[in-house]
Amino acid sequence: MYLMETYRRLPVRFVKGEGVYLYDEGGNKYLDLVAGVAVNALGYNHSKLIEAINEQVQKLIHTSNLFENPWQEELAKELVSLFWTDAKVFFCNSGAEANEAAIKLVRRYFYTKGERKHRIITFKNSFHGRTFGAMSATAQEKIHQGFHPLLDGFDYAELNDFSSVLKALRDDTAGVMLEVIQGEGGIREADGEFLHKVQELCKSKGLLFVLDEVQTGIGRTGRFYAYQHYGLKPDIITLAKGLGGGVPIGAMLAKEEVAKAFVPGSHGSTFGGNPLACTSAKVVVQEVKRLLPQIERVGEYFKNKLKELGVGRVKGKGLMLGLELSQECSEMVMKALEKGLLINCTAGKVLRFVPPLIIQEEHVDEAISILRQIL
Ligand SMILES: *Cc1c(COP(=O)(O)O)cnc(C)c1O
Repeated sequence: MYLMETYRRLPVRFVKGEGVYLYDEGGNKYLDLVAGVAVNALGYNHSKLIEAINEQVQKLIHTSNLFENPWQEELAKELVSLFWTDAKVFFCNSGAEANEAAIKLVRRYFYTKGERKHRIITFKNSFHGRTFGAMSATAQEKIHQGFHPLLDGFDYAELNDFSSVLKALRDDTAGVMLEVIQGEGGIREADGEFLHKVQELCKSKGLLFVLDEVQTGIGRTGRFYAYQHYGLKPDIITLAKGLGGGVPIGAMLAKEEVAKAFVPGSHGSTFGGNPLACTSAKVVVQEVKRLLPQIERVGEYFKNKLKELGVGRVKGKGLMLGLELSQECSEMVMKALEKGLLINCTAGKVLRFVPPLIIQEEHVDEAISILRQIL
């Protein structure tokens, strides 16, 4: 009644969670392969996460970025130690904000170099968020509908079509931004050869190579950052979703030389990287590092089981998987819900599986048996 209708909500109210399961008001149990859309990396009621959050809440929830923040420093050190080179971090509260920060940093980097370049090449079916910059970077008409004029400065190319990237290139192009696996776009994977060609182009033309790892990052694909599968060396990456294990936090990492373009006053965030969010993220990062082999193993197991179903094309890496059906899949989501399984349908025909990263083979078996009944 009082909520804006920005979501078509499923008729279920969850009251608690435990591990990879959610429970509704009536005490019904659901196996969760959505995880708050790739957010609840450690599932529900994770003892280490709860303990750390509890302890921090009693000490300090928020101060301000006007003061030193050792929680941010520690978390940034950890994130950078997992990056391919020295970098600096900016903390915010969401994926869209992380991408806004990246778009602003790209522009300011060239401004500080005295080069008049500001345009960014992005890709069809991408998703970068709902704020004006991030939405304009998102090359999907349905997301732009009713919001024109968009922010100027984005040129769209086709994923895995290098000639379309060359075609989008202009004298004032400053960077290329992409998801190595498009999430909302239907678990579409960029291929390694294409990614390396784009990276090479960036290096040769002096453009910034920006990866939106909001969904693919933090272990989701079986590597801590998804670019590691391809041995890429991005200049900037953005993170959010899984990073806080459910507590809102986003981050942008940039190579030191690029990061220098932000100076006091260039950018900011009131809530970004507060002690509570950083405490939560620190536990998530530590746990996910440990979970990586398991994510890879269970992901592979899950992928094979999906293939064995023999319906549609199976896509994705680690625990970011898609099953592309020949028809609309939103009805399937409802049927699964009735059988105690939470799944998501994206890009019309793709069932998307982004479960908590703690999921085990036995949960996959349970999910597959329900999927077999409804498909
Ligand atoms: C979800 C998502 C975003 C937007 O994140 P919000 O936290 O909803 O703003 C941006 N990029 C990618 C790749 C995403 O999956």
